[in-house]
Amino acid sequence: MNLRLIQFASPREIRVARAAGQYVWDVSGKRYLDFYTGYGVAFLGHRHPKVMQALKEQLDRYVTIPPSFETDVKDECLNQLAKILPQHLERVYFMNSGSEACEAALKIARKTTGRKKVLAFVNSFHGRTMAALSATWNPKYREGFEPFPLEVVFSPFNDPSAVDDKLNEDFAAVILEPVQGEGGIVPATDDFLKAVEKRCREVGAVFIVDEVQSGFGRTGFIWAHQKSGVKPDIMTAAKAIGGGYPASILAATEQVASKLKETDHGSTYGGNPLAFAAVKAAVEVLIEEGVPQQASEKGAVLGELLAEVVEQNRGVFRQLRRAGLMIGLEMRTQPQPFIRMLQNNGLIAFKAGLTVLRLLPPYLITEEDIRTAAETISRTCVEFLAQKPKPSESQG
Ligand SMILES: *Cc1c(COP(=O)(O)O)cnc(C)c1O
Repeated sequence: MNLRLIQFASPREIRVARAAGQYVWDVSGKRYLDFYTGYGVAFLGHRHPKVMQALKEQLDRYVTIPPSFETDVKDECLNQLAKILPQHLERVYFMNSGSEACEAALKIARKTTGRKKVLAFVNSFHGRTMAALSATWNPKYREGFEPFPLEVVFSPFNDPSAVDDKLNEDFAAVILEPVQGEGGIVPATDDFLKAVEKRCREVGAVFIVDEVQSGFGRTGFIWAHQKSGVKPDIMTAAKAIGGGYPASILAATEQVASKLKETDHGSTYGGNPLAFAAVKAAVEVLIEEGVPQQASEKGAVLGELLAEVVEQNRGVFRQLRRAGLMIGLEMRTQPQPFIRMLQNNGLIAFKAGLTVLRLLPPYLITEEDIRTAAETISRTCVEFLAQKPKPSESQG
């Protein structure tokens, strides 16, 4: 038998030898600047030494002890997380992926309100498991999977009055990303987040903020929604929080968590000792190295250079959108061929939505990396335009 993977993503055609910090090397020794970081997971850089050290030490103690046991690594992880979680979210549960965390958040909203409807937004992404998928907008991801376990109504993003119109006492929850990631890097406005929060309070719906991609310092705030001062009832996080190790969390208010009982949820691997060790170390790095501040400053510098690139290449790009180091360049075409050219030129990026070139660089990029990235994108534009016939005026 020739066993092969089920390919849900097109092959990258790089044979990886090694990764460290912001770089990936292939087996021929070619070095790539990684602004993909495995969907944004390696935001602290590949193999951050503090995270690796914590994992190695934990491997020598115990690996398979569920969180119902008392362990130092659990206590230390909770102590660290307590320093960075929104202070009104005093209860936390550990899982393994972003989808699982969103799935659990929706289950909890359903259970604690006794309601079945959920309000989500156009271009949202909350994962691929059935409840998370029911709140994910992209028709291509949803096609063929109906009926969904939740009745989800999609409302336009950044439109407060649409939320006022749609949300009523039938709704268990509203779920949103404070910066839409997969949907094309679209930051929520402060007014929108505040209006959603207010309407949730009026109708008694659970306000769920999905920080799986936007959280952990990437946007310049520890959690992106904190920019607007809103207080969600539940927050989910994953991707960057384990410093490269797979882990996710759901954080909830005491008011929500107190309504749950033992049989309501569970996870075999959630809160395993390696995840606790990795999250603990990752939070220490975030605090000690001022990661949100660095993301804010480096994002501003990179953003300025990219704005120039967009300005000089109006035939390739329409718009730059950015929150810290969460960056989207809206293209005039499907981004895949451009992404492949970038990769050949030494910069690994990926797409978002149908037409967005997405960059999720790690916080530790240097000024030189920032210049290299902007130059590589600029140079690739020239190459791209030389190969492609110019898009006609009617396209944009
Ligand atoms: C990636 C992502 C998810 C799903 O996370 P997985 O770990 O792939 O299950 C959910 N929500 C958002 C906002 C994401 O970016």
